[in-house]
Amino acid sequence: MSRQESSNKQIIELFKEYYRKANLKLPEDFVLREFAIQPFNSSTYIRHLSFQKIDDLLSFIEKNTPKHLYYSSARYENPGLKDMESKKWLGADLVFDIDADHIPGCTEVKIWLCPNGHGGTGDQSTCPVCGAKTKKISIIDDECLVKGLDQVLRLADILIEDFGFNENDINIYFSGHRGFHLHVHLDDKLAQMGSEERREIVDYILGIGLSIESLRLANETRGRSRRLALIPRINDYGWRRRISKSLLETNIDDTLKKYIIGETPPSPSTIVSKIEDTIPWAIELSKVFVDEKVTIDTKRLIRIPFSLNGKTGLIVKELSIKNPSVFSPSLDTLSPFKGIAKFTPDVSLKNIRILGRKISLEKHKTHTLELGLAVYLELKGIGKITRIQR
Ligand SMILES: [Zn+2]
Repeated sequence: MSRQESSNKQIIELFKEYYRKANLKLPEDFVLREFAIQPFNSSTYIRHLSFQKIDDLLSFIEKNTPKHLYYSSARYENPGLKDMESKKWLGADLVFDIDADHIPGCTEVKIWLCPNGHGGTGDQSTCPVCGAKTKKISIIDDECLVKGLDQVLRLADILIEDFGFNENDINIYFSGHRGFHLHVHLDDKLAQMGSEERREIVDYILGIGLSIESLRLANETRGRSRRLALIPRINDYGWRRRISKSLLETNIDDTLKKYIIGETPPSPSTIVSKIEDTIPWAIELSKVFVDEKVTIDTKRLIRIPFSLNGKTGLIVKELSIKNPSVFSPSLDTLSPFKGIAKFTPDVSLKNIRILGRKISLEKHKTHTLELGLAVYLELKGIGKITRIQR
């Protein structure tokens, strides 16, 4: 087994210990869900698991430490059967994934490593020293997670205000890596929505097919009649409301602001020509960059809240919609591993920001790092933990 494939026993032990005390959050109807795990040292999933009691799941996890742990967004009559048809699909939650690599302007630190021990930062597919194919690693910038959080909160706002979902049926989770998941629990009837219906929801959120004429954001001429555009207001519905919110974040003048928030009544002077140039920008700002593939999939495997993400060792943590500011992309709150570790990197890195820390690493030198950070770096494939002190 090559080094990349073989996981550090100490990390497996840490995961095992975490799961012994973990408070996994499972849906009430968990008996109808398919469970899946990806164990350490295996690239394949163990799928089609089902459990009648939470204790059965916990003892399964105790025996098979998961690197990744999932349940299905779908409910099935027979979730444990292998054949998808025989499972009998009963419906699925509505799930969204906001991944930092979909967010415009998000930056990642790109790292490359070659099998002959060369490495550096940058986007290299072949090693500039020996020509070998490289392994590429990227580390998300903390700023991107903050942007992702803003996106997922905008998404929750759309689902509540535009679609009428109840806030109590919506849960938001940090993915444990570089994004956020949002789950909407649907009643039995809505849960029947197929991929096409779910795609329409995604299109609406992404603003696909948006017509600025039909939103009255541009003048419209039909034959001899002409309809003037109107500045959107916060009390409008749907996209006009979203755009008005975005406009308030721009440098428009105070009179317009007052109009948008409803303090001054409509007047002919509030036609769109005043802010025509700002509208396309406000539309862009109002888009939420959800991953379409995830939402239209009615049989998606989703990470179990409060499990660990095996790419980082971070907790899939729940966020409160009412109190989102509590979330910060910080090692202290997102990693369960406390202590220090000796870590030897395969590559030198200078002033990299990771989860509220700024680190510099020197290739092949032993560093003393916080345990959570060392686990993160090893799972990313940047080096190896040699010793743990707790
Ligand atoms: Zn090389």
